[in-house]
Amino acid sequence: MNLLNADLHCHSVVSDGTLQPEALAHRAKANGVELWALTDHDEIDGQLRAADAARAIGLDYLSGCEISVSFAGVTVHIVGLGFDAEDRALRQGLAATRGGRGERAREMAAELAKAGIQGVYEGALRHAGNPALIARTHIARYLVEIGVCADTHEVFRRFLTSGRPGYVPHRWAALGDAVRWINEAGGLAVIAHPGRYGFTPNEEYALFTEFIAHGGRGVEVITGSHTTADYLKYADMALEFDLLASRGSDFHSPQESHTDLGALPDLPGRLTPVWSALQHRVQRA
Ligand code: AMP
Ligand code: MN
Ligand code: MN
Ligand code: MN
Repeated sequence: MNLLNADLHCHSVVSDGTLQPEALAHRAKANGVELWALTDHDEIDGQLRAADAARAIGLDYLSGCEISVSFAGVTVHIVGLGFDAEDRALRQGLAATRGGRGERAREMAAELAKAGIQGVYEGALRHAGNPALIARTHIARYLVEIGVCADTHEVFRRFLTSGRPGYVPHRWAALGDAVRWINEAGGLAVIAHPGRYGFTPNEEYALFTEFIAHGGRGVEVITGSHTTADYLKYADMALEFDLLASRGSDFHSPQESHTDLGALPDLPGRLTPVWSALQHRVQRA
């Protein structure tokens, strides 16, 4: 079961990916993925399209999303899997979470204008497949388009991260709310790419214990955002905290992502995969 090629984390044009849900389904299948989830940021409008496309090509599917949460002053991402995509409270919670994104983008554009870069809001909006979901990624693509930076990673390094011009702090959902929305919609909550947050050991312990206290059950161990050392560290933490382990590329774009759909190491054999607890939620092809 651990050797299943599951890819339970990626993005479409419904958030900040560059491919349509149908194109992602085909790419996942072509890459040998056996169980797939589309996990757009704060938005589940691509779920029906993703599930239909997966079914049409014989690919098992789990519903998915990636919720932005503020925890200890840092943005943390919580992946939800296997929920009912029609659940009203989940839909309302996600709508509230994405609600501030337009205003935030305008504020980031105003900061970048002060740094001499004009037209950022309008430019980023042109890159956004979903105007309700304008992300830093779209601003980054606009800055690459106009030649300010060579690639999106350079944009994040120079502009869109804490302490840099163009960064605007933002208040996302509360951890407990995000976990509750997912659980009450019949899904399972997973801490996304824990290796990315730069927490101290104490802060990380607080995140894991509070997440579990709220009813969270899984952690991403194998993700495109982790180093080999992170794989080992979070495999150990999954065991220590008795969490189910997840696996996902976090694929956004053929041009930008270094990890393709399904192109990940297997989940270590000593871990229990999240999909073992989600068999009843899998939409079988
Ligand atoms: P937002 O939700 O608007 O804060 O945007 C966050 C998104 O920006 C993430 O989901 C990534 O897709 C992207 N991102 C964050 N950091 C980086 C980075 N260093 N390089 C490239 N993309 C990044
Ligand atoms: Mn993203
Ligand atoms: Mn993320
Ligand atoms: Mn992601």
